[in-house]
Amino acid sequence: MRRLLLVEAPDHEKHHVRGRGYQESPRRQMALSRGVRQLEVEVRPVKSFPEKFLYRVHDKKLLDFLRSSSEQSIAGKYEYPFMIPVHRPQHPPKDWTLAVGYYCIDTFTPIHRESWNTARKAVDCALTAAAEILGEHCYSYALVRPPGHHSERSYFGGYCYLNSAAIAADYLSQHGRVAMLDIDYHHGNGQQDIFWERNDVLTVSIHGHPDFAYPYFSGYKNEIGASKGKGFNINMPLPESVNGAEFIAALKIAIKHIKQFKPKFLVVPIGFDTARNDPSGSWALDPADFNESGKLLASLNLPTVFVQEGGYQIGRLAKYAKAFFAGVLA
Ligand SMILES: [Zn+2]
Repeated sequence: MRRLLLVEAPDHEKHHVRGRGYQESPRRQMALSRGVRQLEVEVRPVKSFPEKFLYRVHDKKLLDFLRSSSEQSIAGKYEYPFMIPVHRPQHPPKDWTLAVGYYCIDTFTPIHRESWNTARKAVDCALTAAAEILGEHCYSYALVRPPGHHSERSYFGGYCYLNSAAIAADYLSQHGRVAMLDIDYHHGNGQQDIFWERNDVLTVSIHGHPDFAYPYFSGYKNEIGASKGKGFNINMPLPESVNGAEFIAALKIAIKHIKQFKPKFLVVPIGFDTARNDPSGSWALDPADFNESGKLLASLNLPTVFVQEGGYQIGRLAKYAKAFFAGVLA
């Protein structure tokens, strides 16, 4: 029988950015949790992992900045990037409130008192989920916030601070080849950047084309990796309007690529912003499509870690999570 282990990020509600139309809220995790717990899941406690696993994936300067800027933040205050010194990257501003834009890829992801602590716990959660599948052939779900797949080696943004899924994939890569399949509506630019020159982690992403979808600067088909990693990054940008059948067709192609790579583990950054009427997306997936996606991913028959990314229709997230993971367990 297939088993699903659930590892939930503790204290995630301390990360609650109010205002500026910020869609990434604590209610998302609560809704997803309600949905997946309607299935037979085994809840596992979060373990603590040393920071060395973060340093393997992220630049030390970014990690130092995220930690120290959070510590210096005044409770309840958000520091948004307001100048982005991309033209003079050799001179990072010394004042941390000015440096937010130096490390961020957009202008809507702020630093605040709890951003480091909550992102750090999300990483522990993803690593716990990864460690659980090392011992036995099963599925685990790191239900976390803040999300992580837009965080690159040296930059954060897109509601993301630390790339939990990439850190979990890197951890697993020490035990065998890993495939990452990002099925959030938005391009997984974070892991593309992080594993760009590596051939032991295959990164695949199905997403809205950057012509119209965040992050707008990456996710093109011709981004295939470099040096040893050339050919080990596969982008599948899809049009603005995509229905369930079209998404499933793309997913089947992605699964073929993964089979050819012969990985030992699968890591799936999952977003439910591919759903019909999601405020951050433009596609039209329904619960039956999530169910089918879950079945297809399980057909790979690989120990798999699912890591939560986007999805913003709070009233429907429980239904989507239940449908997807019912497919995985079917
Ligand atoms: Zn997304």
